[in-house]
Amino acid sequence: MDAMKQVTVLGATGSIGQSTLDVIARHPSSFSVYALTGNTRVAEMFSCCMQFNPKIAVMADASAAEDLEKKLRNAGAQTQVQSGVEAMKAVASHPDVDYVMAAIVGAAGLQPALAAAEAGKRVLLANKEALVMTGSLFMEAVARSGAVLLPIDSEHNAIFQCMPSSYRSGDQATGIKKILLTASGGPFRTLSEQEMAVVTPAQACKHPNWSMGRKISVDSASLMNKGLELIEACWLFNTTPAQIEVVVHPQSIIHSMVEYVDGSVLAQLGSPDMRTPIAYGLGWPERMASGVSSLDLLKIGMLNFEAPDRSRFPCLALAEESFTAGGTSCAILNAANEVAVEAFLNGNLGFNKIPVIIEETLSRMVSREAHSIELVLEDDGAARQLATSLIKKY
Ligand code: NAD
Ligand code: MG
Repeated sequence: MDAMKQVTVLGATGSIGQSTLDVIARHPSSFSVYALTGNTRVAEMFSCCMQFNPKIAVMADASAAEDLEKKLRNAGAQTQVQSGVEAMKAVASHPDVDYVMAAIVGAAGLQPALAAAEAGKRVLLANKEALVMTGSLFMEAVARSGAVLLPIDSEHNAIFQCMPSSYRSGDQATGIKKILLTASGGPFRTLSEQEMAVVTPAQACKHPNWSMGRKISVDSASLMNKGLELIEACWLFNTTPAQIEVVVHPQSIIHSMVEYVDGSVLAQLGSPDMRTPIAYGLGWPERMASGVSSLDLLKIGMLNFEAPDRSRFPCLALAEESFTAGGTSCAILNAANEVAVEAFLNGNLGFNKIPVIIEETLSRMVSREAHSIELVLEDDGAARQLATSLIKKY
């Protein structure tokens, strides 16, 4: 690799953020950390700063930033501490920055990720909610600025790897018949509707194959994660839900596939470890070591496939319908889901009521043309308010 690349990691204290720093630490002569961002967890951010010595650390929360500042000064560290969303946008778009890992969870990640896209950075996108909310504006920003958008979500990274080597995110793919988007099926794949009504947050967060943040773990359990990923794939690969088939593959060894018009099906396989797509994004178009263990197919023995059960997992169809409806529908879907998942995690909503809240929020709101980010954020806020009031009924 040529010159040292300066990297900003948005959401550095999270699961993807930590895996990103793990990969970066393996290549000290290729990458240096320009900035790290976090939300409230000061102790984690402090140890990241001590290890990677970023120029800037941003906490979303102002009092967390104050605490971090004190700890870093006491330790004699040079890192400057800032707080708030404007500071996150600034470290995502600073001229010194080459690569931005967008790994904040949820709508909170949208503005910094978009700032990186607008500034023409190499954007490693894990924050799928950003594309779900503002897919057309986001892809327009990428096209306008010349940003390089590399998907980090394992499925989308697999699809990207199965595309012709000249393919860039947002291009109309040629010679392709369909995309096979794989899903693990989550921890409740085999549960009945009655059993799913009484599951706990701890059960929902215990994913069979992946270790992830709590929000995406619940999304995986409800299959909303696959719904969000379907929308994400439509934007990234310039296609429609009709060209995407969701295939449940419980072992999570094949991370997704592309079927070409000649009948060839290309797949990307690997151990379920996010450091593979992260290293792909950092190294692209070259390959670099990630620390991921070799795939042992003899030990795995079997790969299974089944159709998703759309009636036990209504979130998948809600996402498909929202993409087809267009406008701000997907932002409304995403906002209602974030509120419902949070309520479930706090013990205030049953797991099986998550799709009920989303459906009711969607049906009571009127989707609008998504002309601007401000308008999308308005509908995001309105959907959150409505979903919060609906939850009180349950
Ligand atoms: P996580 O909960 O482990 O980490 C979230 C990060 O976002 C943390 O650094 C946190 O400080 C930050 N954050 C949270 N709220 C914030 C706010 N209001 N303002 C600023 N920062 C805030 O989540 P994760 O599992 O690392 O997932 C991150 C993103 O990557 C999500 O969009 C998820 O869907 C996506 N993703 C994750 C995985 C995975 O394996 N974990 C796989 C594919 C995609
Ligand atoms: Mg995924």
